[in-house]
Amino acid sequence: MIEFQDVSKIYSNGTKALSNVNLHVNDGEFVFIVGSSGAGKSTFLKLITCEERPSEGEIVVGEQKLNELKRGDVPYLRRTMGMVFQDFRLIQKMTVYENVAFAMHVVGASSREIRRRVPYILGLVNLQNKADCHPRELSGGEQQRVGLARALINSPRLLIADEPTGNIDPALSFEIVDLFSEINKRGTTILMVTHEHSLVKHFGRRVIEIHGGTVVADSCNWEVRHA
Ligand code: ADP
Ligand code: ADP
Repeated sequence: MIEFQDVSKIYSNGTKALSNVNLHVNDGEFVFIVGSSGAGKSTFLKLITCEERPSEGEIVVGEQKLNELKRGDVPYLRRTMGMVFQDFRLIQKMTVYENVAFAMHVVGASSREIRRRVPYILGLVNLQNKADCHPRELSGGEQQRVGLARALINSPRLLIADEPTGNIDPALSFEIVDLFSEINKRGTTILMVTHEHSLVKHFGRRVIEIHGGTVVADSCNWEVRHA
């Protein structure tokens, strides 16, 4: 699903954000990415979404070699990915239903498909009763579930989440990651950056730890070593 071969990223101001990263994520995995602030976690995700290009090395996502991807093809790559953000990024003037429907509309889905699928996805994240609410009327956890519904609406193979629980109650964080697990069980590959060690320990998945731009640990027993 994802392959990094000797990948380095040096920003134009000379900052070396990643050096010689080698890793492989299989289809269907659920991976936590951890590491202190400035470690290179966001850069890692941005290389996968083609928001940034590597300075050295090769990246493959799905069957696509990103080095060969033309700028104009980036939007098509992104359609195979769902993205969830720490600050939700919902459209405030749209309802919950409309926020999710809009993500289908922009990729050219018909009104009929939208009417069929949006209620299904809102049910999946337990928001069927909030369809007509605006984001400001919802709790942080509920807003993030809208963000998740929007990310899933076009059936992505890969879900990328950059600190999705960073702005919500710790108790509700578990609910969000429970939903991620549920989605992962249905076959979606998940990459989730987090600072919350309690989540990482609780869910016991593969953990990639980045420090100073290099992968310093990549393990399924990370929570045991750090307990
Ligand atoms: P993390 O997500 O782990 O906090 P980042 O990937 O955001 O880390 O940043 C890694 C390093 O790259 C940091 O030193 C950061 O200041 C630097 N950096 C991030 N984005 C840019 C940019 N657009 N231009 C220059 N330096 C950047
Ligand atoms: P379109 O793509 O045709 O511009 P939308 O994306 O806004 O329409 O919505 C798709 C369909 O869902 C439309 O027929 C719209 O009337 C309907 N719809 C919009 N909001 C809601 C809602 N809160 N509950 C039920 N159906 C809705």
